[in-house]
Amino acid sequence: MRERGLSAAQLAQQQAQLLGQDRPWSRVFNSICTQPHPLALEAAMQTLHTNLGDVRIFAGTAQMAQQVTQRLGALMQGPHSRGLLVSGGTEANLLALHVARLRRPDITQGEVIAGETVHFSLRKACTLLGLRLRTAALDERLRLRAAAVQALITPQTLAIVGTAGSSEFGAVDALDELSALALQQGLHLHVDAATGGFIIPFARALGHALPPCDFSLEGVSSITLDPHKYGLSIIPSGALLLRDDSLPAGLQQDSFFARTPTHHSLLGTRSGAAAAATLAVLDGLGFEGYVAQTRANYARTAYLVQGLRAHGYALMLAPELNIVCVALPQAEALAQALEQRGWIISVSTRYQHALRLVVQRHVDEAMIDAFLHDLHALAPP
Ligand code: PLP
Repeated sequence: MRERGLSAAQLAQQQAQLLGQDRPWSRVFNSICTQPHPLALEAAMQTLHTNLGDVRIFAGTAQMAQQVTQRLGALMQGPHSRGLLVSGGTEANLLALHVARLRRPDITQGEVIAGETVHFSLRKACTLLGLRLRTAALDERLRLRAAAVQALITPQTLAIVGTAGSSEFGAVDALDELSALALQQGLHLHVDAATGGFIIPFARALGHALPPCDFSLEGVSSITLDPHKYGLSIIPSGALLLRDDSLPAGLQQDSFFARTPTHHSLLGTRSGAAAAATLAVLDGLGFEGYVAQTRANYARTAYLVQGLRAHGYALMLAPELNIVCVALPQAEALAQALEQRGWIISVSTRYQHALRLVVQRHVDEAMIDAFLHDLHALAPP
């Protein structure tokens, strides 16, 4: 620590110098998160000081959190659902498996079945909870199908995880099939909709052929949503939704003090800014606003795909959401060369011949044109 504190001007200079090393959004093609919506930012600034760990002081902020979970439950077609606001998809996925395990004390060596491209947060969750993750092969569109899961079910199977929008490819598992299987086998089906939860309901309203990722599928027991991705809220905003209100007793932890709330999620002291920001953007945009945002994202995804095809590039698979994967043999070397020109792009460690481009709110046509120009200069097909 410094002996003497810096002046406000020195602090501002230090911050500006460090912030200047961050990449501008206009060069970011790898991020499922984006600049928060201005409504979310404004609400967050007003509420950064609040603490959802003490709802006697912050009773109004606690109501905001409650209203967010109600709205998210309704969006996910769960009129009786219970929502927990958490820090993001990782915490929501961890809690989902924790709930599944608490509900089945008869299973002592629990196994979780998921597709090969399951997000690594579920690997973390299994490690922490002492569960075994078994991964199933995917179909040609990189989706998990029921038959592949069925082949892995054992008496120790605790849960199935379906992904509504894989991080790497935006592929949506066959959730309708997984739901039927979970019902038939009496298994917990958790849907990780961190990527697609704020795309799929609106894309379906626009007529896109995607399965629902919500409680209208009767076999779905829990859902992860990430307002800090396509929900346009601030980081850290995540949510776990459970189909019904009956929480397993083991999830509850009482605090030391009378008249303070029982805890159900991992964090204690936490800012209410994420709840306020999420409420502001949910209510400010409404369903129609998210549909408009989704329409715009798909239009720019189509513009990118068209541009790639016009330049002679092939896609690895047809994009279901707003993630475009270009088949390129030297993808990693190319991603490094692009990074030297300022572009931040991902290459899957599993499929190293694919350059992954994420279309989010900050990606516009001018950015796509500039990117295609540099891509073509570095790697003409
Ligand atoms: N699940 C999926 C499908 C994701 O895409 C991500 C993040 O990209 C996560 C879980 C983890 O979410 P977070 O980074 O918010 O913890």
